[in-house]
Amino acid sequence: MVLTITTGSGDCENVLHSTFSSRYVQTSIPRFRLPEHEIPKEAAYQIISDELMLDGNPRLNLASFVTTWMEPECDKLMMQALNKNYIDMDEYPVTTELQDRCVNIIARLFNAPVGEKDQAIGAGTVGSSEAIMLAGLAFKRKWQNKRKAEGKPYDKPNIVTGANVQVCWEKFARYFEVELKDVKLKKNYYVMDPQEAVEMVDENTICVCAILGSTYNGEFEDVKLLNDLLLKKNKKTGWDTPIHVDAASGGFIAPFLYPHLEWDFRLPLVKSINVSGHKYGLVYAGIGWVIWRGKQDLPEELVFHVNYLGADQPTFTLNFSKGASQIIAQYYQLIRLGFEGYKSVMENCQANAKFLAEEIDKIGRFDILSKDIGVPLVAFSLKNRRQHDEYEIADNLRRFGWIVPAYTMAPNAQDVSLLRVVIREDFSRTLAERLIGDLIKVLQYLDSRPPNVVEAVTQALVEKDPALKSVQEPHLKLEDIEAVAEVICQEDPTSQHLRAPEDIKSASVFDQVLNSRKAFKTWKRFALSKTNAIC
Ligand SMILES: *Cc1c(COP(=O)(O)O)cnc(C)c1O
Repeated sequence: MVLTITTGSGDCENVLHSTFSSRYVQTSIPRFRLPEHEIPKEAAYQIISDELMLDGNPRLNLASFVTTWMEPECDKLMMQALNKNYIDMDEYPVTTELQDRCVNIIARLFNAPVGEKDQAIGAGTVGSSEAIMLAGLAFKRKWQNKRKAEGKPYDKPNIVTGANVQVCWEKFARYFEVELKDVKLKKNYYVMDPQEAVEMVDENTICVCAILGSTYNGEFEDVKLLNDLLLKKNKKTGWDTPIHVDAASGGFIAPFLYPHLEWDFRLPLVKSINVSGHKYGLVYAGIGWVIWRGKQDLPEELVFHVNYLGADQPTFTLNFSKGASQIIAQYYQLIRLGFEGYKSVMENCQANAKFLAEEIDKIGRFDILSKDIGVPLVAFSLKNRRQHDEYEIADNLRRFGWIVPAYTMAPNAQDVSLLRVVIREDFSRTLAERLIGDLIKVLQYLDSRPPNVVEAVTQALVEKDPALKSVQEPHLKLEDIEAVAEVICQEDPTSQHLRAPEDIKSASVFDQVLNSRKAFKTWKRFALSKTNAIC
C-alpha cells in the first residue's frame, strides 16, 4: 500500500520522460520500478529538479508554521553537517554537547527549576510529534507505576485534552493505547475549557494536555487556570494528575512576547513541555524538543543505555539514527539571536499579523477568529457563505501562488470553516499587502460569477425531478432530504453519509450541503453537468 496521495499525476503514464536530460539519456525511466541501468548524474539531477519545479513555493506556503528561511551562514553549517549521524555521540561529542546546551537553554527559558550548575532534563526530537510521544509515554509509565504500587488496576489510562488538539495526540492515544477524552469546543469558544477538562479528570487520567497556540486559531489555552483548578481537585481527591503543555508553536513566542504569562514550569503541575524547534524556534523542518520539569518526572526505565557506538550513552528517542544538522542549526539560532533577537523577530511577526487582521477586517466580509494574544496568525471566516465558501477562496488564491488552507473547526464547532494565514519570520509587510490585494481580487472574481451556486444546483435538481421543488424551502421534511441525498449519491457514491438521517434532520438542506465540503463539490459538479458550466 502506498501511504501518500499525490495530486495531478492520476492519469500519467508509468514512465518519466525528460526534456533536457535527453542529451544524456534516450529512454524513459520507469515511475514505480527500479530502473535497470544507471543514468548520468547530470540527467538524474535534471529530471528531478525539473519535476520539483511544480511543487509550491515554500515561502508562499502560508499554511505552515514550519521555518522556510534561514541565514546563509546557517545553511552552510547545516550543509557541513549533512553527513553526521546525531546518534553517534561518541564520535561526534561536540554535536552532542550542542544538543545538551540547547536542552539547557530551552529548559531555563521555560523556567524549569534547574540550579545554576545542574543539567536540565530533556531531549532533541524529530519534531513536536516525537516529543509528545515521549512525554506521553513518561506520564503513562509514571501513572502505571503508581497504580501498581497501590495495588490498583492500571489497564485503562486516559488523557484529557481539548478537541482542538493536533493530530499527533490522537496518534499517541491510538499507538500507545491510551483513551483520549476530549473537551468539545463550542460556538465562539475554540479552545479547551479548563473547567470542563478538570471535571473530566478521573483516577485513570495520566495527564491533562494544554495547548499553547491552538493549531486551529493560534489561541493560547489558559494553563494557569487549569493548574489552579487541577490543584484543587488533586487536593480533594488525593490524586496528583499532572499537566503537559503542548507549546509546539507558542513555546518560542510566549517567553518573548508575553513574559508575564504563566504557562510553563512556573506552574507546579506542569511536568513536561514540548516545542517545535522547526516552528518559531526558526530552524528548517526536522527538530523538536521535550523538556521535563526534573529527573523525577522521567521514569528511568524508559531511558536506554547503548554502548555499541562507543561509551555508554543514555537515549530516550523513538528512532535511532537521524541527521545532526538541525541540532546544530538550533544552536546557531539560539546564540545568534539571543533573547533580544528572538524578541524582535516575534514582535515583527506579531505586528504583521495585526496589520493583516486589520486589513482583512476592513474588507468587511470576514470574521476574525484568531486572538490578539497568541501565535502570530490570522484565522478568518466568511460572514456569509451562501454565495461562495472558504474553499473557493483558497482555491482561487492558489492562482496567485498563495497557499492558504481552508478547513473546518474541531468538534463541536465543525460548522465553522475558516482560512488561516500563518505569519513567519520571512513573511514581510510587503507580502502581506500583496496578499490583501490578491484576496480582494479573488472576492471580486467570485462575486462576478453567477450569483448563487446553490440556486443553480437547486434549479438543476428540480429540472431532473420536479418533486424536488421543495428543496427551495428552508426546512425540509426528512423524505425530501432523503430524496435529495438519493440524487447526490447517484452522482457520487462517496457522499452516502448524507443519507444518515441524524446528520441532516431538522436543518435546512442548504446549510447541510454547504457544511459538507464533499457534498458541496458534488452538487457543484452535478450542476455543472446540468447547466453547461454556468456555476
Ligand atoms: C505543529 C504542532 C504539533 C506537531 O508538531 P511537529 O513538530 O510538526 O511534529 C503538535 N501540536 C501543535 C499544537 C502543533 O502546532
